[in-house]
Amino acid sequence: MTDFSKYAQPGVLALSPYQPGKPIEELERELGISHIIKLASNENPLGPSPQALAAMGEELADIWLYPDGSGHALKSGLAARHGVAMNQITLGNGSSEVLEFAIRVLVGKGDEVLYSAHSFALYPILTLATGGTPVEAPASNWGVDLDALLARINPNTRVICIANPNNPTGTWVAAGALRRFLEQVPEDVLVIIDEAYFDYAIEPATGATDYPDCSQWLGEFANIMVARTFSKSYGLAGLRVGYALSSPQLADLMNRVRPPFNVNNLALAAATAALADEAHLSASVALNARGLQQLGEGFVAMGLDYIPSAGNFISVDLKRPAAPLYQALLREGVIVRPVANYGMPEHLRVTVGTEAQNQRFLEALARVLK
Ligand SMILES: *Cc1c(COP(=O)(O)O)cnc(C)c1O
Repeated sequence: MTDFSKYAQPGVLALSPYQPGKPIEELERELGISHIIKLASNENPLGPSPQALAAMGEELADIWLYPDGSGHALKSGLAARHGVAMNQITLGNGSSEVLEFAIRVLVGKGDEVLYSAHSFALYPILTLATGGTPVEAPASNWGVDLDALLARINPNTRVICIANPNNPTGTWVAAGALRRFLEQVPEDVLVIIDEAYFDYAIEPATGATDYPDCSQWLGEFANIMVARTFSKSYGLAGLRVGYALSSPQLADLMNRVRPPFNVNNLALAAATAALADEAHLSASVALNARGLQQLGEGFVAMGLDYIPSAGNFISVDLKRPAAPLYQALLREGVIVRPVANYGMPEHLRVTVGTEAQNQRFLEALARVLK
């Protein structure tokens, strides 16, 4: 009898699959209800830039051609935006893929990948998939404890992953503290700074005024990689496009494991156009800042604590098991994200939506809490 599990790599057998937010169509099928809102995957409620949509429309006629495997147009835009050379940029099918490239290049059996408790679920998944060992350091106040990370560095440590801001907590690491940390990390350990929520965090209204732009530190620290994505603030999650900024050497190594046409024609065209539409980005970021405030005030009015967030989501502390409340919210047609698998069984993470969506969520939450 066929049994591939006996040949599956031990790391693969040890991992549990990533749990995505529940799709709207799935809930529609299950409950037979409509008017569902999904505030579960940190998507941009404004959607993509109209210019990105137009660029995709124009690209459609050429869809029979393979994409430009070097991603020249997008990389030029990114190089100009970040003041880096083209050979420091690696494009990915989502930034998840560039995280995977880095870990595949550097991590094998016996090697360790270090990250903080309550941080992005993909880090241990990618590590186990390559046969490496995930090492989780304790967090402090839901945020990354840089000293706890430093204390766990040993000769087997190859990669440290820091999501800044962190998902699902929304906490951020300040510039000064991160710089002092990087000065103490051995130079042959790669530090991945995962800046998926960068555009939201730099908006002063989030309160994260000491938040660093690590893309500006690449000249100083050869052992950092900055990951960014078009999935969140640019509203292009479904297209799958993200990128890494790193030393040319790491980019070259990652390019060797990159599938040749990993970013498709439509994604390249849309991301290139989206990058140029600064008005859409600032409207998205401004809407988010207002939404964070609206949700925060709503939680306070209900007597609930929440973790102050620099992202486009907030984790709210329900002070009781969150799973039944998550289910009750589904019956209200509101999909949020349970975070028990992040060690947060009494929190729910809600993505900042439009003002009306946030209001509908707050009213539904008030009802299910009664
Ligand atoms: C959403 C997210 C990503 C990126 O996802 P992609 O869609 O693959 O670009 C990366 N890191 C964190 C922490 C995220 O929340």
